Amino acid sequence: MAKTGVGPVPRARVQAMKEYHPPLGNRDAMRLDFNENTIACSPKVKEVLGRISAGALTRYPEREPVERIVAGHVGVAAEQLVLTNGVDEAIHILFETFLDEGDELLLPVPTYTMYEVYASATDARAVTVKAAEDLQFPFERLVSAITTRTKIVAIANPNSPSGSVATREQILEIARQAPDAVVLVDEAYFHFFGETVMDLIGSVPNLMVARTFSKAYGLAGLRLGVLAGPVDLMKWVRRVLSPYSVNSLALACLPAALEDTAYLGWYVGEVLAARGEFEKALDEVGVRRWPSRANFVLVDIGEKHREFVRLMSAGGVLVRDRSNDPGCDGCVRITIGTREQMGAAVEVLRKTMSEIRREGSK
Ligand code: PMP
Repeated sequence: MAKTGVGPVPRARVQAMKEYHPPLGNRDAMRLDFNENTIACSPKVKEVLGRISAGALTRYPEREPVERIVAGHVGVAAEQLVLTNGVDEAIHILFETFLDEGDELLLPVPTYTMYEVYASATDARAVTVKAAEDLQFPFERLVSAITTRTKIVAIANPNSPSGSVATREQILEIARQAPDAVVLVDEAYFHFFGETVMDLIGSVPNLMVARTFSKAYGLAGLRLGVLAGPVDLMKWVRRVLSPYSVNSLALACLPAALEDTAYLGWYVGEVLAARGEFEKALDEVGVRRWPSRANFVLVDIGEKHREFVRLMSAGGVLVRDRSNDPGCDGCVRITIGTREQMGAAVEVLRKTMSEIRREGSK
């Protein structure tokens, strides 16, 4: 017996990791806190779910036929794409594939939390470049931070929680300046923005693009993501990715979700119209905000941000405190839903702000 007396000990890196517990409990209210679709997925998806037999669940899921459909839909070759268990798995797998000891992950911040979480489980170092007060994409400083150790640059486009965007030219320039790094463009909020670099997959040797079905499509519960990239890079990703990580319910539903373009168009149209109306209301109420190209808006509440979140929740509207994000002191992120929902949310916002201001003047 080889006995040390210590028992199982995780890697030092894992011991140093922080726990990440997003506030997912008690969400039976208006969900403007996680940037999900706030209503439902396509009814066509629901129909498919209802037809799935008990026998079908006995089989291991086969990704490839559905990957071919998705590849056709986004305009890449099937060999250039994998489906993942949400974009989170795509990020995880990509970091496992490319980040070694001494490597650097380059990140403009504030940005999506999970990049740093997954990086912290690798032996690489996350190098962050903070946006200026306007929270615009810090292009020049990001380029200056590229080194020979930079192995991944992760760009959420549009970014969360700011809603800001990087231009196609900026992304191309970063890919040129960091030829030894994978430039991951995370297009989770693509449908609300409309611009993409997916068409450059294969022609830019170090560009990868991720998309999710958790936002506009309303399938966050099914966990479905896409990672696309040049065949030469995807072959390494495929070695790390489990063949079974996308479950058969998700695979069965995906073609129906893609086909129902009318539903997607309707939902995105609702959100874009609601976003304009909501931004106008924020301006009228006098809440400072950042311009957004996604299905959420970041607002600056100031020192009463916690109370704001609590009062909004008491009024039936869940919003997300982002004040711990770099450069986001006092900030709260509000997801945009349908026009009807946002009309109701504005009423709660007005009440909340007048209560906060009344207390402030006491
Ligand atoms: N990327 C960004 C920028 C996100 O905001 C999110 C979700 N909040 C994700 C990825 C995760 O997407 P998924 O649900 O597909 O894991």
